[in-house]
Amino acid sequence: MENQNMVLPKVQLGNTGYSVSQLALGGFHQVEISSDIIDKVVTAYQQFGGNYIETARSYGDGASEKKLGRVLEGRRDQFILCSKSGAEGAREIRRDIEASLTNLQTDHIEFYYFHGVPDEDKLERILSPGGALEGMLKAKEEGLIGGIGLSSHNLPMYIKGMSALPVDLILIWCNYLEDMYLPEIKDEIFPFARKRNIGITAMKPLGDGFLYRSPNMAMRYAMSNHPDVLVCGMNTLQHVSEAVEAVCQGPLTAAEQSSLLMDAPELGNYVCRQCGNCSAQLKELFRLEGYVDRQMIDYLEHDPADYALRLRLSSWFSMREKGLSVFKKKKWDEMKLLKEAASVSCPYRIDVSRKVRLSLAKLSGGNLILFE
Ligand code: SF4
Repeated sequence: MENQNMVLPKVQLGNTGYSVSQLALGGFHQVEISSDIIDKVVTAYQQFGGNYIETARSYGDGASEKKLGRVLEGRRDQFILCSKSGAEGAREIRRDIEASLTNLQTDHIEFYYFHGVPDEDKLERILSPGGALEGMLKAKEEGLIGGIGLSSHNLPMYIKGMSALPVDLILIWCNYLEDMYLPEIKDEIFPFARKRNIGITAMKPLGDGFLYRSPNMAMRYAMSNHPDVLVCGMNTLQHVSEAVEAVCQGPLTAAEQSSLLMDAPELGNYVCRQCGNCSAQLKELFRLEGYVDRQMIDYLEHDPADYALRLRLSSWFSMREKGLSVFKKKKWDEMKLLKEAASVSCPYRIDVSRKVRLSLAKLSGGNLILFE
């Protein structure tokens, strides 16, 4: 490896007292590869100074945890480990923590997450007597877990979750596609966590693989939002090498960021960059469109592989219903929006009138008869 002398920088993770490498090894994709390959990946990652590995009970129904347990035998104490559970009851989460401990072949796990908390109903059940919070706190008291984390695919649940649960860290998505319609990740959620000294670990720097063309720029863009740690799935030695290089290079400069947003083919001439050329209403309309399908479905020409990827990933998050309900309440004058759009010249070559018609169709459940 050309960059074999690079050493990953370390950061203090919130107020947890742990010093962790700025690059974490994500466990989701370990389901797809053999323990032999994971062994090589973990060894390479460790040689670069990596010490932070995360996985979850649900990744391959425990397969990721089991493979990691085998691979970490004899070196478990050299890593900070996280796992996660979607359980909502105290007994269920206890059962999951014990299963994680067995699978990972350890007597403690540094951080255990409430995994993918989807909505307020589930949060309430977690908090209620006999709920998963009780189980987590007991496991923490007994030293089975060191701290508590929170993750979700539904953005509003981060602030609600951090307000209600005694969490030490969050795992949240962070990339240049989502940044275009969910600016609140960096503008509201990161500052909210920082103010409370909650560690910020950022996942999906490549937007679930959609931003695969330039992993270096994508990872460095994610770092520009200043999470504590970037979590990347790495399935090959090349992935490890590329991710280490990106993290060691650090965040993009402002000029590099502008040029990425101008040229990134995944944003192309369809994804709104939220510049100042449109009215606040138009910009909000495009953000709500992002809630529906991440602005991936643009009805433009794509090669079959790209088209298939867009179809698969466009409904990956749970923001669609929120987008539709917010739009319904707005009662915007659609003709006024279309009139406004006609006068906008977009620096990213977006056909703003066409985009307004498409956004309105997606958000109102209308059809594409709006096109000639
Ligand atoms: S001009 Fe283009 S990038 Fe700027 S807000 Fe309008 S659509 Fe978005």
